Amino acid sequence: MPTYEYNCPKCGKFDFFQKITAEPLKACPTCGAEVVRVISGGTGVIYKGSGFYTTDYARKGSTADETKAS
Ligand SMILES: [Zn+2]
Repeated sequence: MPTYEYNCPKCGKFDFFQKITAEPLKACPTCGAEVVRVISGGTGVIYKGSGFYTTDYARKGSTADETKAS
């Protein structure tokens, strides 16, 4: 069961267990204030950028080979 993180203006941040099919929480279960769901990391949307480094390295390597002819 996924944990959703909510931010209550009165209580602060809290975690709330819900079924993935459940409606997102709109009111704080403690004080009834309107809450905002916090989209936390770890959902798989991480840009590592290692591919860019690999491409760049390969390109530099070939250029170095061309320049090395002396
Ligand atoms: Zn609250």
